[in-house]
This record gives sequence, C-alpha cells and structure tokens, in this order.
Amino acid sequence: MNDKITIHFLGAAGTVTGSKYLIDTGDKKIMVDCGLFQGLKKLRVLNWDYLPVNVEEIDAVLLTHGHMDHTGYLPKLVKMGFNNSILGTSPTLDIAAIILRDSAKIQEEDAERANKEGFTKHSPAEPLYDLIDAEKAIEHFESVPEGEWMDLFEGIRVRFQYNGHIVGATFIELDIYGKRFVFSGDIGRKEDLLMRPPKKPEKADVLFVESTYGNRLHKKEDLETKLKDIILHTVEKGGTLIIPSFAVERTQTLMYLLWQLREKGEIPAIPMIMDSPMGANVLNVFHQHRDWHKLPIDDCTKMCHTFRIVKDFKETWEVIGNKNPKIVIAGSGMISGGRVLTYLQQYLRKPETSVLLAGFQAEGTRGRAMLDGASELKIYGKYYEVKAEVFNLQVLSAHADQVELLDWMSDIKVEPERIFITHGESHSADMFRVKIKDVYGWDCTIPELYEIDEIPLEESAEKKVDQSH
Ligand SMILES: [Zn+2]
Repeated sequence: MNDKITIHFLGAAGTVTGSKYLIDTGDKKIMVDCGLFQGLKKLRVLNWDYLPVNVEEIDAVLLTHGHMDHTGYLPKLVKMGFNNSILGTSPTLDIAAIILRDSAKIQEEDAERANKEGFTKHSPAEPLYDLIDAEKAIEHFESVPEGEWMDLFEGIRVRFQYNGHIVGATFIELDIYGKRFVFSGDIGRKEDLLMRPPKKPEKADVLFVESTYGNRLHKKEDLETKLKDIILHTVEKGGTLIIPSFAVERTQTLMYLLWQLREKGEIPAIPMIMDSPMGANVLNVFHQHRDWHKLPIDDCTKMCHTFRIVKDFKETWEVIGNKNPKIVIAGSGMISGGRVLTYLQQYLRKPETSVLLAGFQAEGTRGRAMLDGASELKIYGKYYEVKAEVFNLQVLSAHADQVELLDWMSDIKVEPERIFITHGESHSADMFRVKIKDVYGWDCTIPELYEIDEIPLEESAEKKVDQSH
C-alpha cells in the first residue's frame, strides 16, 4: 500500500465553476465531478487548456450532481481518452445527459455563429465538443443508489447522500483505506419549496466544502410578495418580465411560484411562457423521480398546463411578436447563453421591461454585470443599452448560505485532519475560512487552481492499531 493520497485541484479553486478533483491513491485515480469553467474569459479558456493529469489513467468519475459546472467537461474528458465508468444517482445522470446534449448544441451553434458573423479571433472557430462527443460520454454513465455504501475498488468504498441542492444532488463520501474523504458538492437550503433538507456527514478525515455563499446570509424575503410586486409593477408599465433562469431547478421553482400566484388570483392572467427546451426536459425528470422532491405530481401537471412551453425558435419569435405584458422564463440563468439572449436583444432597450435575476451570478457573466448595474450588455458581438429595470431575488438560490453551510458540518464530532474550502470566489472562501475557525476552531486550506496536496496514510494506520489495543 502507498503511504499517501494525492489530491489535484483541477477546478472550483478560487471560483465557483469547473468543479474537478482528482484523488490519486497510488493504485487508483478517481475524479470527483468534471465541470466546465464558465464566466470570466480567463476561466473559460481553461476549458481549452491541457489538463495537468493523464486522463487515460483515470479509473472512475463520481458526480455529486448534474449541473454544468460539475459535469460539463465530461465529453471533453472522454474525447481526451477517458474510458471508464461515470457514476452518479439516476436523476443526476438524467440531468447530466440533458445538460451535455444542450451544451454540445450551444457550443456547435456558437462556433457556427462566430464563423458566419466573423467576430472570432480563431478561424475557423471550433466547438469544445460536439453532440457525438456528448453521446459518447453519456454511454459511460452508471447509476448508483442514494444512501448506500458500495465497493468501488479494493479497499475503496463510496456512498452518495442526499443534499437537497437539486433533484439527484448528493454529497459524496469516499472511504480510501479507512480514511474518509467527504465532498460536499453544492449544498441545498434547509427550507426549500421543492427539495427536502440536506443530510449531513457524521465523519470526515478530509473534508471538501463549497463556499458559494460562504460570506453571505440569504435575506428572509417574502418571496411571493416580492415576486407579485415585480409582476404587478411590470404589468402596470405595460412591459414584459424576463426571468433568466437555470433550467435545472430554478425554472421549476419559478413555475411553481408563478402558478401559485395565478391560482390564488394574486396576479392577472397574462401569458406565462417557459422558453427553455432543457427546462421542459428537466420537468420530465421531476415526473420520473418523485421521491427526490416535494412537488406533488398533480400539482406538477396542473402547473405545466398554466404555461406555454416553447419548443422551437419560430415560437420564440411569435412570443416576441406579442407586444402585451407577459412573463418569460428563459435560459440561461447567468445570461451566458441560451434563448434569453434573443429576448434581451429585443427587450433590453425598453424601459417598460423588467429583468429578474434569480440565483447566483458568477463573476464575468452578463448576469453579474446586470446585477452590478451595467449600462450596456454585449450580446453576440454587439452592444445593447440597458434601459430595462433589473431586480434580484436572492432567496431563490439553490445554495446554502453561511449559517446553513456551518450547520451542514455540525454533525462532524471529531476535527477533520484537513478541510479544503472550494467552490467560492476568493473573498467568499476566505470569510468562510475565518468563520469555521471562529465557530469550530478548525483550520482550513483554500487551494489554488492546479494545486497538489498530499494526505499521509500512516497516521490513520497507527491510530487504528492504537484503538485496537
Ligand atoms: Zn449546482
């Protein structure tokens, strides 16, 4: 047996995107999450950078959940020679498949558009991967049960545990030669409209904890009232409410809230449109995996009927052609791509338009720029003045805030040997580090991208001998 385990931080270090860790036991190489970098250009170019590990030697990939920043790099990994199993819960794999196909399509379309309109510095522009690559990655998917230990390799076992972030989402416990590695994934809220509260780990020798909102407390806003006010205000000025939304989870939560407001007669019966083919596919995942969420299936069906679910681009233009007040939910959530760009090209310059941001907006995204009060947005190489009113509903986040993150760690009775704070922008990770020290007295490390760290194995072996005496 080897005397150490090596950890490679290949993403979500100093940023919220590109989640990727490689755990090298000496005999086996296990990757946890395989996300795409998004947002700032200096991050996005990393997707094209070479990965400082030998991809062909990776023995398995474990997925905490289906979101793009945890799965979006898989087709590239397979293209680079990875040829083993990709493990996740069944809904996680369903969502990942939807996301990878969509991501491949967007990359193909963006490359095509860049070539046609000539706003690329690379000629010709190539997609990072295409639909065929995405399908090849999906062939490696293997589903695992939630909450049960399973043997992965000799001396290595794994358990995926419900963590309430999105349907299928889990944290991952990996026992390697008796030492427990815990990967938080993205942790959900204690109280959520659709998800149950997250389970908590009871033991961790090495803990990897996210810190998206490590420096923030979500305001206790009255969600329904705030949403209702924004809608009534928009109707009054005769405009359209555009809600850029993450197709997975936020879209379904928003649909649920809007449907409830409509049912109670709190908002007028204006058209409500869900223009996200991916959002529609995710609704099917909700139907198929009922024990993963709280939404009664009858409500789910009724809710769907209240919305016009747009399927193709022609319909998008029909919706835009309707000049009356309406509510449009469209992807993507951080306005980094998707149908919402077409709507914003048409509506951004109109003061009667309202744009509602509903979730975390990463640095470098158009969503973050709007949140910070940008006066113009660049879409497909052209600038558009922002005359629309911009609103923000932070409480709609699928991420735990500081108190909830601390609470998630509260069942760990023995101080972990190492704690790594990841998946947060640097100020957020650092404030969370200070807070953990204050509350638990534990020291944490904030790894840098491509940093390599080592966990010695002898110590726990000695401990075990001690305990057996
Ligand atoms: Zn996530």
